[in-house]
Amino acid sequence: PKLVYDFAEGNKDMKQLLGGKGANLAEMTNLGLPVPPGFTITADACRAYLESGTVPADLADEIDKHVALLQEKMGKKLGQADDPLLVSVRSGAAVSMPGMMETVLNVGLNDDSVNGLAHQSGNPRFAWDAYRRLIQMFGKTVLGMDGDVFEDAIEAAKQAKGTQNDLDLDADDLKAVVETFKQAVHEHTGREFPQDPRTQMDLAIEAVFGSWNSDRAILYRRQERIAADLGTAVNICSMVFGNLGMDSGTGVAFTRDPSTGHPGVYGDYLQNAQGEDVVAGIRNTVPLADLEQIDKTSYDELMAIMATLEGHYRDLCDIEFTVERGKLWMLQTRVGKRTAAAAFRIATSLIDEGVIDADEALGRVKGAQLAQLMFPRFDADAATDLITKAIGASPGAASGKIVFTSDAAVEAAERGEKVILVRRETNPDDLHGMIAAQGVLTSRGGKTSHAAVVARGMGKTCVCGAEELDVNVAQGTITVHGTVLEAGEVISIDGTTGEVFRGEVPVVPSPVVQYFEGTLAPEAGDELVASVHRLITHADEVRRLGVRTNADTGEDAARARRFGAQGIGLCRTEHMFLGERRESVERLILADTDEERDAALAELEPLQRADFLELLGAMDGLPVTIRLIDPPLHEFLPSMEELAVKVAVARERGEDPGRDATLLAAVQRLHEQNPMLGLRGVRLGLVIPGLFAMQVRAIASAAKELGAKGKDPRPEIMIPLVGAAQELHIARDEVERVLAEVDPGRVIPIGTMIELPRAAVTADQIAEAADFFSFGTNDLTQMTWGFSRDDVESSFFSKYLEKGIFAVSPFESIDREGVGALVRTGVDRGRATKPDLKLGVCGEHGGDPDSIHFFHEAGLDYVSCSPFRIPVARLEAGRAAL
Ligand code: ADP
Ligand code: MG
Ligand code: MG
Repeated sequence: PKLVYDFAEGNKDMKQLLGGKGANLAEMTNLGLPVPPGFTITADACRAYLESGTVPADLADEIDKHVALLQEKMGKKLGQADDPLLVSVRSGAAVSMPGMMETVLNVGLNDDSVNGLAHQSGNPRFAWDAYRRLIQMFGKTVLGMDGDVFEDAIEAAKQAKGTQNDLDLDADDLKAVVETFKQAVHEHTGREFPQDPRTQMDLAIEAVFGSWNSDRAILYRRQERIAADLGTAVNICSMVFGNLGMDSGTGVAFTRDPSTGHPGVYGDYLQNAQGEDVVAGIRNTVPLADLEQIDKTSYDELMAIMATLEGHYRDLCDIEFTVERGKLWMLQTRVGKRTAAAAFRIATSLIDEGVIDADEALGRVKGAQLAQLMFPRFDADAATDLITKAIGASPGAASGKIVFTSDAAVEAAERGEKVILVRRETNPDDLHGMIAAQGVLTSRGGKTSHAAVVARGMGKTCVCGAEELDVNVAQGTITVHGTVLEAGEVISIDGTTGEVFRGEVPVVPSPVVQYFEGTLAPEAGDELVASVHRLITHADEVRRLGVRTNADTGEDAARARRFGAQGIGLCRTEHMFLGERRESVERLILADTDEERDAALAELEPLQRADFLELLGAMDGLPVTIRLIDPPLHEFLPSMEELAVKVAVARERGEDPGRDATLLAAVQRLHEQNPMLGLRGVRLGLVIPGLFAMQVRAIASAAKELGAKGKDPRPEIMIPLVGAAQELHIARDEVERVLAEVDPGRVIPIGTMIELPRAAVTADQIAEAADFFSFGTNDLTQMTWGFSRDDVESSFFSKYLEKGIFAVSPFESIDREGVGALVRTGVDRGRATKPDLKLGVCGEHGGDPDSIHFFHEAGLDYVSCSPFRIPVARLEAGRAAL
């Protein structure tokens, strides 16, 4: 296959092959925008390299051809002593991984051509600066040297010169720096810095390929659930220079504000600078709007290009550009990352601007983003101890102890502590600390700094550019207006307003939650709430899946209903056996005679009826699926160890252990090696006479009572852990008998959970006795994989994730191929018996976006999830139907 594409040969839809950067450079080239010429080496070539450890045989030839073409186009050659062609070697995967992989600039410079560049540009300082950058980037990226070696040398040169500003280093200073760098390379590798431009290029290409598997890239992919085997493309792009003087510069821009979504001019610009300088926070940037004063021609052209790009991509774009002596060059664009709030606002703005329709807008917002908007905010009344106000770069309200290093953040998080990572600026090596921290606070950099971009991508709270803070990492202090804060002290940061508070600030519900609660009207003037309202309303219109809630109490049911739940998909009845009711349960378990057992059940029944009255009342007119008792009974008894100690102590003292001894005997009798595979679910109902009957009587009589009051109760009775149709037939007979006794006129559907592989496989038989199925995907996952959910997630799952056995825990997101296949089997076989069998899912997966899409495809009727996930499920069910 073709391994190299000229920029003019690609387009934006070729991301898989050319990477996002390459595909978009091609798109811009074909739009006639000023892109420095170049070519892209495909991700296929990278994959081949990663698999075999060597570059594909044909690659060198193809590169030769494209280099020749490029030299022709540019009218200069690589390594040409009097006027060298320089290129950048840039990584760029199909999925954007900002700053995670490597790029080397100024490839092609050497001891000869640096003089040619100096002469040709009339600017020796620039030429030596470019050369030292090449050696620095090459040393770090290609030769694996420690970046500090280079930074320390520059720092030393600045100190010798008595300056803080790298611009004060002149050509001779930089020449000396280059000398130091070259020596460092020699010491480190035992060889000279390679002088042959093509060797530089080839080594840089290999290094970029290899950077796909750098630690931080791997960590980032795991965090963002990006497949491990995509590989990266490599872009070879002829260099343009923003560091030729004050008439040059480099910048980043967004076509709209990525944190709020508002239209306008957003970005940062830095005069006389190259590449990474803007995001690295080395010098302070100016707002992009200032470029109008600095260089109106370039500014106007940039504005026009930004409008073109937005129109073309029909979405927010982010951009990297460089001005070389008054000439604008475009170096990168992509549909930009944005905050959750911006995603919603932009989507509805674009509908209003006539750019996209409501379906497309819905496709552009995600459940995970909506979930973020439902996080609590700081309580403005309680937030009094304001330390400083900086740039709100990634929204959220985070409190935690101050830590100054990423390692400290990880250690503290492992101890279960909440921390805020405080840095002057972050760099790609801080990724693990950013993941571990509740939030990130930096004293330098703007909305486009590394910290801001990465935090937004992860949905992590971030405040940046807090210049009033004097962050001294070495001493472990922050000094602000004379106050000193130390590591370990708690601060709170507001990623929306940019405020930083001392101490922990209490939180209040977000406006979006208030909207779902019904206390904030969509037309009350909050733009974000209005956007959420429009898109979720559209989701409700288009979705086929119903959304129910898992709720055990009237309070949860009422909240879920306000959030849009169309009923209860799972009411667990076991909590109704806890608390003060424990004693009755104990009597039930300890009963020796039928009379004792019936007496205990008789105590429980009115209490359960009261619970059902509340629940059915809260969900009046909507279905309420009540699952009969499921867990093993010993869960309701004190622990065996505890009792054994009590009894032993009593005996030691010569006292009578009394009831404790009886309980201990019962617990020992009920003890099981694998309780989750033991006496639970339908098995309890079949073995303990009267237990299910009591629950059914409570349900039926509660419904009857509400019905008599003119209400519309709609209970559905669900029998757990059925593996064989016979179990369900027997249980159903008993349930029907009780229903006929209590309220013969009322039809209450009787169904079962499908949560054992055997149930899924024999669903055709089980359906004979079931009015509905609800897939219990927690147990189904547990039983299918043979994973004990309570044990494996904390023991070896991280290893499994590392080894790529799965990209996400199968308890979090449904395993489509395995557990999902059983769900499909259950659906097909169940409906083969009863075409109108009602099918739902309860369990954690009901609120997980990816799983919801799967359940839609599998043809279920509804998902059921916890009350707070209801809005997410509504939105995702809508997106699944697009
Ligand atoms: P990243 O993916 O980390 O943004 P890039 O490949 O975009 O890495 O490059 C890093 C920096 O170098 C960016 O600021 C980019 O604009 C700049 N850069 C890349 N190629 C060139 C070039 N040919 N001329 C000038 N600057 C470049
Ligand atoms: Mg870039
Ligand atoms: Mg279960």
